[in-house]
Amino acid sequence: MPENHGKSVFLLIMIDVHSSSQLTGHFIELEEQFGAHNYHPLPVVLSRGQGVYVWDVEGKKYYDFLSGYSALNQGHCHPRLVKVLVDQAQKLTLTSRAFYNDQLGAFEQYLCQLFGYDKALPMNTGVEAVETALKLARKWAYEVKGVPDGKAKIVVCENNFHGRTLNVISFSTDPQAKNGFGPYMPGYVIIPYNNIPALEKALEDPDVAAFLVEPIQGEAGVIVPDPGYLSRAKAICASHRVLFIADEIQTGLGRTGKMLCCDYEEVKPDVLILGKALSGGMLPVSAVLANDEVMLTIRPGEHGSTFGGNPLASRIAREAVQIILDEALPEHAARIGAYFREQLQALSSPWIQTIRGKGLLNAIVINHSHPDAAWHLCLLMRDRGLLAKPTHGDRIRLAPPLIITREQIDECLAIIDDSLKAFEHLSLGPHPDETTV
Ligand code: PLP
Repeated sequence: MPENHGKSVFLLIMIDVHSSSQLTGHFIELEEQFGAHNYHPLPVVLSRGQGVYVWDVEGKKYYDFLSGYSALNQGHCHPRLVKVLVDQAQKLTLTSRAFYNDQLGAFEQYLCQLFGYDKALPMNTGVEAVETALKLARKWAYEVKGVPDGKAKIVVCENNFHGRTLNVISFSTDPQAKNGFGPYMPGYVIIPYNNIPALEKALEDPDVAAFLVEPIQGEAGVIVPDPGYLSRAKAICASHRVLFIADEIQTGLGRTGKMLCCDYEEVKPDVLILGKALSGGMLPVSAVLANDEVMLTIRPGEHGSTFGGNPLASRIAREAVQIILDEALPEHAARIGAYFREQLQALSSPWIQTIRGKGLLNAIVINHSHPDAAWHLCLLMRDRGLLAKPTHGDRIRLAPPLIITREQIDECLAIIDDSLKAFEHLSLGPHPDETTV
């Protein structure tokens, strides 16, 4: 990624904004002036969402093909979630963990029984749950496995994405996420993804506590590992007494066509990390699940969060997961997702290099030399009523809410087709990094 890419994209946004309405421009300029520039959103200002649709401030309707980075598996403003949100908000929202509340235990029991673990530890954002899992792994290594104090290592994969804290970016291989934020946390070993010999070699070190892995690398551009990778990796971890930690924050809760992506290979992680759709987009809710041997190594005062496990989040999360089951969303995602990929292939567009994914977590890789080609295609799709966002330059993730119907997918395929055709006639101009401000 070029160093001044952020600036270039900002330029592209502003050029696009000037051609859109004043209302849209007003909201974008407000964010640009008063907000930190740590994101470069597609120039569209949303004010309403329902199901698979969102509406902008001008009243234009779109299909949401990002789903809040897979937090909206249940669709926007699911009526059951709105109801429990309002009901619970009128009763009790926050106790902190200084006291018990009447919702947390039921939520923890629900998760433990559904996924088959002894205990759950609730947090808020995904990255906090990742941090929690890493702390658990280190504590377990010292207290149970017998790794000498301060020596524990955690094996991770190249091109991972597990969030944005200093610790988590310490083992990122993405220069954009990592550079300029050192010094970094030691104790991580980075190996190639989808590479069993590399894992075998890394686990020869007796100080390894855990292997942290995404069942599909979502942010990296929906990289699906070979069949058998997860089950083989789990077996190698077991034989070396290393915890297998699955980050299912993006892949979990129905997104890939099973309740968990690990279910495809009948792999039960030692530590399971959930987030995003755990609240159906209502508020940040994440959780870590593990058995007592791991979870009870953390004792009172050693970990926590003011909002983690609050009654509002607990009530919403229980409902959010139950909706996924009641509406059979994993099965639906598997069926619709397979159809979607098949139909995308059938478009046989010269601009599509690759189509990949599982369930409704999919990506297309754009076949174009211009570094912002994917961005421009997203603008064309936006103009035609479909919102998606590039990830890593030439990849566009296509991940609608799991409630999308076959008819709606057909309509979206027509939009994508039309956008690809329009792309042919688009003059992309010089690389924006060559543009002078
Ligand atoms: N882990 C994975 C696999 C993710 O995809 C993400 C977010 O995209 C995270 C962790 C971080 O979650 P959050 O942004 O809620 O901190």
